[in-house]
Amino acid sequence: MCGIIGYLGPRPAAPVLLDSLRRLEYRGYDSAGVVVLGSAGVPVAVKAAGKVQALLDRIDGEEIAGKVGMGHTRWATHGGPTFENAHPQADCSQRFFVIHNGIIENFSELRQELVDQGHVFRSETDTEVLPHLIESYYEGDLVAATRRALRRLRGAYAVVVLSSTDPDTLIGARLNAPLVVGVGADEWFLSSDLTAIIPYTKQALVLGEGDMVVLSPVGPVVTSIADGSETAPRVVRVEWDVLQAERGGFPNFMSKEMHEQPAALENALRGRLLADGRVEFSDWDVGDQALRAFNRVQIVAAGSAFYAGLLAKHAIEELAGLPTAVEVASEWRYRPQAVDQHTLTIAISQSGETADTLAAARRAKEQGSYLLAVSNVLGSTLALEADAMVNLHAGPEICVVATKTFLNQVAVSLLLAMRLGSAREVLGPGDRSRLASGLRSLTAAQQHVLSGEERIAPLGAWLAEHRSVLYMGRGYGYPVALEAALKLKEVSYLHAEAYPAGELKHGPIALLNPSLPVVAFATESPTREKVRSNVQEVRARQSPVLAVVSEGDHSLDQLADHVVEVPRVPEIVSPMVDILVGQQLAYHAALSRGLDVDRPRNLAKSVTVE
Ligand code: GLU
Repeated sequence: MCGIIGYLGPRPAAPVLLDSLRRLEYRGYDSAGVVVLGSAGVPVAVKAAGKVQALLDRIDGEEIAGKVGMGHTRWATHGGPTFENAHPQADCSQRFFVIHNGIIENFSELRQELVDQGHVFRSETDTEVLPHLIESYYEGDLVAATRRALRRLRGAYAVVVLSSTDPDTLIGARLNAPLVVGVGADEWFLSSDLTAIIPYTKQALVLGEGDMVVLSPVGPVVTSIADGSETAPRVVRVEWDVLQAERGGFPNFMSKEMHEQPAALENALRGRLLADGRVEFSDWDVGDQALRAFNRVQIVAAGSAFYAGLLAKHAIEELAGLPTAVEVASEWRYRPQAVDQHTLTIAISQSGETADTLAAARRAKEQGSYLLAVSNVLGSTLALEADAMVNLHAGPEICVVATKTFLNQVAVSLLLAMRLGSAREVLGPGDRSRLASGLRSLTAAQQHVLSGEERIAPLGAWLAEHRSVLYMGRGYGYPVALEAALKLKEVSYLHAEAYPAGELKHGPIALLNPSLPVVAFATESPTREKVRSNVQEVRARQSPVLAVVSEGDHSLDQLADHVVEVPRVPEIVSPMVDILVGQQLAYHAALSRGLDVDRPRNLAKSVTVE
């Protein structure tokens, strides 16, 4: 999620690192740091909380001599965005330095083991276990110690290791997180993405999963972490310019972030969804008994997060049998709140700074309620004020409209529902493991939808030929319809409305006519037959229909003008597949109108005003 850069070569390393960090800042920006090995092999590390500029201010033009070094911009997942938690992280002896992108799933066991051995930890990060592990395994061979340490890690990492014991060496490794090696003339770069290296070289080696690379003046040697055998990395020549590279080759951030959703979802589940389907949050340490003491849930949120909250309500009531209310924060904050110490208030906000959500959350706390924040930003105001925060782990989202953060809000909501359901003994082991396998099947289903984009693109353009679009769904499909309609409004400026399909006949049916298309979410669910009847009602009024159905379902082929098939998944997880179609329709509607999807008019990423 963060930005990583490493350098080994004939140039002074510090200017390369600092320049690259500025270019990588879009990947993570809550703290930054560099470490350079000076000529006598003495490491000089500088870190700062805040933006890269804060790091530059701290260095204040002073020269950091040395030709081997690495730098990092952090997107905090474990521990707030503080100076101590900024990378690089080091061991007790300050010889082994590590920068890391990702999440080390088993860090708490490892940390305990190392503390028992006498290691002293300085940060709250998961990352810090790695330099201490290397220190504990080091017997004169840095590569061997690093390999042994890496084998102990579970989860996701792209790391770079630098040590005063080997001043001519830089080690990189990756598992479930990207890392590329830039190859220049007698100089090498390591980076989490191509953006950083493009100004220096167009030639790169792409490391495979589970590979490590040792850079030294003799060149890169790539081996498998598991067995040490040499592997041949893929060599690529990059033709992108810097701007294209920032977007990973995608035309804009919205597209990039939509395509990052399977990986974002894996990050949300990582270390939380256990093999037997139980859910544990390392960032929400709460016992079953405390969870059983809650007799209701109150969710407060705004915008897309509110729709994620509606899905959370369905899931919590279904899996945990706990009455759950969801309220738009700007409304709820000004009403008398019926909450007390037995209420679990969940405030959902991507940025953790949404003014209305913050105000509503504060009201809940004042009434004695327990406050749980669900946010993408550790150290945000909401995170600091809440009793606990569950991290969305979506990584930085640059496009103003929510895509991967909405998805992860839905995923985390489902995990919370499973956790509450287990604690209350409403959700048994059988249902739990069925749900877990449903969740695990999602990334493949999402990839399938994303790879079918060229079939959805013309449908988005078709929607854009109309002035207004009606969306409908039932059950879990209704919040999906709401979010899909919101996406269309936000990026294409077309008018859109969403209704529970059964509500049409209570009013909005009067709107139907041949120039009002209806998008119907009709994937597998117990109410699918009902949605089908609603589609029939729509067709009888000549509105054209675009139906989103489960693969192999041909029951709407004759009724709908357009049918989009998506992989068949259990209803409760279906929003995490179906919404991808809604996002793509909105995206292509906007593109066909020539609009800037990343910066829609009148919108701001973080709504810090009332
Ligand atoms: N998990 C690490 C931390 O919280 C790395 C986060 C990142 O990818 O920036 O420090």
